[in-house]
Amino acid sequence: MNDRSADVVIVGAGPAGSIAAYEMAGRGHSVLVLDKRQELGTPKRCAEGINIKGLQEVGLEPNPLWAVNKIVGSHIYAPSGKRVEMNDLGTTGFVLERKIFEKHLAKRAIDAGAKYMVKTLVTDVLKDGDRIVGVKARHMGEEFDVNAKLVIAADGVDSMTAKRAGINTLNKLSDYHSGFQYEMAGLRIQNDVLSLYFGVEVAPKGYVWIFPKGGGIANVGIGIVGVESGEGRRARDYLDKFIASHPEVFENASPIEVNAGGIPVKIDAETFVKDGFMVVGDAAQQVNPIHGGGIALAMRAAKLCAEVASSALTEDDVSRERLLEYETRWMEGDGKHLKRLLKLRYFLEKLDDKDFENFAVALRGEDIMALTRGDFKAIVNLALKSPRLLPVAKKFLV
Ligand SMILES: Cc1cc2nc3c(=O)[nH]c(=O)nc-3n(C[C@H](O)[C@H](O)[C@H](O)COP(=O)(O)OP(=O)(O)OC[C@H]3O[C@@H](n4cnc5c(N)ncnc54)[C@H](O)[C@@H]3O)c2cc1C
Repeated sequence: MNDRSADVVIVGAGPAGSIAAYEMAGRGHSVLVLDKRQELGTPKRCAEGINIKGLQEVGLEPNPLWAVNKIVGSHIYAPSGKRVEMNDLGTTGFVLERKIFEKHLAKRAIDAGAKYMVKTLVTDVLKDGDRIVGVKARHMGEEFDVNAKLVIAADGVDSMTAKRAGINTLNKLSDYHSGFQYEMAGLRIQNDVLSLYFGVEVAPKGYVWIFPKGGGIANVGIGIVGVESGEGRRARDYLDKFIASHPEVFENASPIEVNAGGIPVKIDAETFVKDGFMVVGDAAQQVNPIHGGGIALAMRAAKLCAEVASSALTEDDVSRERLLEYETRWMEGDGKHLKRLLKLRYFLEKLDDKDFENFAVALRGEDIMALTRGDFKAIVNLALKSPRLLPVAKKFLV
């Protein structure tokens, strides 16, 4: 609690913040992580799905304490109920218990030497001219400053820290997925597959998901583009309608938790760095614009961010020019891929229910995997093989 200065102060102890903290502390830097929540991981704003690769590439092996349910595939449903199965296609993943996962990530960073303060709201950044030199924070009524050589903003989808530092990473409302979810018990579902439901009436420009956690428990949610207001048009209304129309799954089920949150689905942050400052994770829009998944991306970006930050601190040069290496490397890798996926998202938003049905008849699991990787040649090749997809492919070219 006496820490009021550190080499690095990290705002936010979500997956991005705690991976950055672990990587920086492990390289011998003094790290202070501040989070406004009184309990890390709670309330969750997440369906908790992650591919095994997303864990392993940041050095995490799935532990049944927090990787609570193994997933071996996905079932995609067209509006008519026609199903495309994607099983055993390298889609092995897990549904997490984020309340435990986030604490595990924090413990790992603390064991590596990082200090954490919870229930600590960062209220502003400290500036020396245009350079960021720390943050202002409030912990249970006590206001204080933390001086730091570097500030990393990992404060999530509505990052005020980046904005306060002078970097605009906030989206227009139409570039957010509006997410609403129940964690439910008593479901009749297959416990080892994710189920995704598409259709204009089901989830306009989005989808409904069922992510099982084992024992008939699952996250049942919806993400739709933009924030619709008015009775019957909110994300919650669509989800309630979906649940009511599937008694075979939900007849004996009840919610045990309600979650809601925004998901940024546009990749156009002006920059990720300035003198003494970096931004990472949802706060930097590092989210898959097709399915809204961001845990693995946030952790991967945090590892890269920490690698560059550590070298910059060692060289005693935290200028924007030095830190730009993080932005450039991210843009060449995940950034490039996500921008391709954004194009695919705009295409998917044009599809109507007939298109979804045609897709369900013509596509195999492998084809859908190719599409989600952003392999646009797949669309063209499929259209050539299956005339019913020609009108769909044309929508892609417009
Ligand atoms: C409904 C929904 C479902 C989702 N499902 C999935 C899914 O299944 N799989 C997936 O990969 N992704 C999913 N996501 C996205 C995923 O949750 C995020 O991409 C991920 O949490 C990003 O991690 P992060 O560390 O960048 O931000 P966050 O996890 O949001 O962490 C930010 C942290 O910053 C703290 N903070 C914010 N402001 C301040 C402040 N001023 N001072 C101090 N602390 C602050 C917050 O308390 C929080 O702990 C979903 C999102 C939603 C909304």
